Amino acid sequence: MPTAFPSAVLGAGRPLTLRGAGHSCDGQTVAGNELLVTYDPAGTEHQVREVGEDAVEVPAGTSWRVVERYLNARGRTVPVLTDHLPVSVGGTLSVGGLGATSLRYGMQVDQVERIQLTDGAGVSRWCSRTEHSELFRFALGGLGTLGLIERAVLRTVPLPRTLRLHRRSHPRLDDLVAYTEQIAARDDVDSFCASLRRGELSSTIGLPDTFSRSGGDRWVTVRHTARAELAHGRPVAPPDGWVRMWSDYVVPAGRLAPLVGVLRSRVPLARLPVMLYFLVLRRPADATAFAFAPIGAAEVSIGMGVYMSVRRTPAAVESARRVFGALLEACAELGGRPYLYGVHDFEGSLVEPLYGPDPARLAQLRSAYGLEHVNAHLPLVRAAVSAAGQR
Ligand SMILES: Cc1cc2nc3c(=O)[nH]c(=O)nc-3n(C[C@H](O)[C@H](O)[C@H](O)COP(=O)(O)OP(=O)(O)OC[C@H]3O[C@@H](n4cnc5c(N)ncnc54)[C@H](O)[C@@H]3O)c2cc1C
Repeated sequence: MPTAFPSAVLGAGRPLTLRGAGHSCDGQTVAGNELLVTYDPAGTEHQVREVGEDAVEVPAGTSWRVVERYLNARGRTVPVLTDHLPVSVGGTLSVGGLGATSLRYGMQVDQVERIQLTDGAGVSRWCSRTEHSELFRFALGGLGTLGLIERAVLRTVPLPRTLRLHRRSHPRLDDLVAYTEQIAARDDVDSFCASLRRGELSSTIGLPDTFSRSGGDRWVTVRHTARAELAHGRPVAPPDGWVRMWSDYVVPAGRLAPLVGVLRSRVPLARLPVMLYFLVLRRPADATAFAFAPIGAAEVSIGMGVYMSVRRTPAAVESARRVFGALLEACAELGGRPYLYGVHDFEGSLVEPLYGPDPARLAQLRSAYGLEHVNAHLPLVRAAVSAAGQR
């Protein structure tokens, strides 16, 4: 239930879990303690408002669908959308936000101009690249470990009327991996996503409307507003008796094949209910070095999502965790990062290669801003406390 006074709940000091729409994995927003739920798209719709010509201020508890409906009516759009618009703005900005147009614009957090952040004492501050910039850097993509994002001001761009998309099938996974790397090396493509789904390998690129098509290609022009529905359509909930085990990894461009190799050595892709999803991600030149967001320092990266549904038995869940453990290790060795909305068990030895000194700093910031009772159950917080203890 949406809470009228989040600052009072945060300031009360009782163990607290923050939740948007609750779509992240592995019980991140499920805890035995108090829940502060911000998600209320209908109740917060009237608070969405334009700020000047190219920005919009939104409450964190609204959904991207509400934001897009508001913007599209004014000929604008958010530069990057994920493929699931019902989730909350605050919940997505707390993980990163990746989509087909990340190839052009980076993450959703790269589109944020400022956020209103409430700390563990109930004190609210506006944070941006220049104001409380360290809080800005840690809170976006920070899984709510640095307080509650209450509002965000997001950059917007003109809404293109149509998108020109080119879909192709790929005979083998190796072919799709090589093609993804080729796309990462090009700069004339506006959007890209690719997947392995029900045994079928396919990719979709978007090119500017001015691009001249060559004969025989399969082109489709779609309404811009349909772009989120074009993607892979992962099921939101698994069938009864099954568990959703999802995890995504982002590695610098040029290093996708070894990551896929580790997956193939662990999982017989043809037999297990596994879906893969690939995105190309290019950071803006002036991007903030967010502490825990999925893209590190590389200018161009490639994301691989591994989405499994496994039977709800300890053995099946443990076996999926072992696959994710191997992928996390490989991702760290390849200079990449995991996407923290998914399933991740941090091994102590991996924390420093992945995040350098930032986990220890997170523990200090949580203490300084009275946040030790907020989202304390998360593996990221445990890793931060342990990293701080070792310094
Ligand atoms: C079907 C489906 C498709 C998806 N597709 C994509 C995709 O294409 N690209 C992509 O990037 N992601 C995708 N995701 C992942 C999704 O973006 C994340 O799970 C996101 O966290 C969902 O937002 P939420 O509102 O459900 O967040 P929640 O699960 O509620 O919260 C996520 C984390 O943020 C914290 N949090 C929540 N709200 C706040 C707040 N206001 N302030 C501070 N902390 C907060 C929570 O404590 C939690 O740790 C998909 C998820 C689903 C279920």
